[in-house]
Amino acid sequence: MPSSDYRNFILGNFQQDSLESICSTEKFQRIYHDILQGVTQCQNSCDYFSLCGGGAPSNKYWENKTFVSAETMACQYNKQIIADIVLQGIENYLGL
Ligand code: SF4
Repeated sequence: MPSSDYRNFILGNFQQDSLESICSTEKFQRIYHDILQGVTQCQNSCDYFSLCGGGAPSNKYWENKTFVSAETMACQYNKQIIADIVLQGIENYLGL
């Protein structure tokens, strides 16, 4: 995937690098750090965090142009709306 932020997400070469060495590269660590910052933003801002856990970094990057972000259209449709419908159904079933 093209990315000027992360130099096209090329992290290594499986014929030359081990997974351990790839995970210890500056680029991988920066991506991981940015993803964790995005999860923290979700934790601090979203009522659905306990259900979702912080979403899909790929959606954040492509919709918001950064991993360091929270809500996306994907999570609205894949998590939030479904949670609302299920909870409403449970409340209706229980007569609440
Ligand atoms: S639903 Fe969206 S905003 Fe909420 S925690 Fe998940 S990804 Fe983050």
